[in-house]
Amino acid sequence: MKKTITILGSTGSIGRQTLEVAEFLKIKVLALTANSSIDLLEEQIRKFKPKLASVFVKKAADELKIRLSGSGIKTRIVHGMQGQIEAASKSGADIIVTAIAGQAGLKPTLAAVKTGKRIALANKEPLVCAGKKVMQAAKKYGTEIIPVDSEHSAIFQCLCDRGIKKIILTASGGPFRGKTLEELESITPEEALRHPSWSMGSKITIDSATLMNKGLELIEAMHLFNISPDKIEVLIHPQSIIHSMVEFEDGSVIAQLSNPDMRQPIQYALTYPKRKPSLTKPLDLAELGKLTFEKPDTDTFPCLRLAYEAANKGQKYCAILNDANEKAVERFLNKEIGFNDIPKEIEKALRGI
Ligand code: NAD
Ligand code: MG
Repeated sequence: MKKTITILGSTGSIGRQTLEVAEFLKIKVLALTANSSIDLLEEQIRKFKPKLASVFVKKAADELKIRLSGSGIKTRIVHGMQGQIEAASKSGADIIVTAIAGQAGLKPTLAAVKTGKRIALANKEPLVCAGKKVMQAAKKYGTEIIPVDSEHSAIFQCLCDRGIKKIILTASGGPFRGKTLEELESITPEEALRHPSWSMGSKITIDSATLMNKGLELIEAMHLFNISPDKIEVLIHPQSIIHSMVEFEDGSVIAQLSNPDMRQPIQYALTYPKRKPSLTKPLDLAELGKLTFEKPDTDTFPCLRLAYEAANKGQKYCAILNDANEKAVERFLNKEIGFNDIPKEIEKALRGI
């Protein structure tokens, strides 16, 4: 078993759950990073005593140094993008967990990949905006990338065989499944931040509500599994029990199931190829009763259609799609644009106007 980890984005939803798993598995933490939330980072440092911690915002890094001075804790505090890169590349950890939100994670992810150490990859946007570069670096440095995103972890766990026909990427459908375009017009950020089955950071929660998360995951899957978009089908499965499936040439389908709990795929990325008891509640299918499936409604949720379009057109379009989406989500969260404007903004960017 691998013994040490570094977590990029340790104060976020994935970062915090990774620390729970690390504590449970008794894995030592060598470095932690965050954007600016030093209250939580300070708590994490006092508990896990990493060698290195990096805060993106310099003022916050300076404040953290003051708070830790005289505490006897030897953690070195660095800042800025250089600090994130240093944590990603120089901590000496056996596994680097990438859990920064958005394309801000691109440079740290690339630096981590170049170490040749295992990457437990949660941060999907670097693959969406520069998938070829990331995967080529992984090949060059012999780096193993183990997906943490639950769907991709599921696919990875199902890929025990040759002769894949297609990937069936499941989606919860988000909180607004079944609603009409008119009903979506007046959706507030507060309503969109309530996800039915997963508790996640704000960017990915809005992406789930617009179905853009599934679009990003489609592009993520293309790179991780070297497969074309026409061989990836999205299927709505509101219970989020089947995390994805692989269909083989002979018509046989293999699926991975568990209760929705990110600690399961996080742990698998840390223990792979072994399996160990985990913090996830065992599945009781009889209690659940039924699992249901339906096709995605891309007229009401155009983001998924736009992602397929970008995926088919190539890397440049995927990067434009990702950037326009990050900006539109931020503007929606700031109440500058409406929910239905998110796909409109992305479509405008893709058409170059
Ligand atoms: P989050 O918003 O909860 O946390 C983001 C983390 O990144 C925080 O620690 C924050 O301090 C840090 N960060 C943000 N900007 C930064 C910057 N410029 N420099 C350094 N650090 C920065 O996000 P999350 O929900 O944990 O998601 C993280 C990534 O994992 C995303 O790419 C998301 O798509 C992916 N993911 C998340 C889930 C989930 O369940 N939350 C599931 C699958 C994939
Ligand atoms: Mg996912």
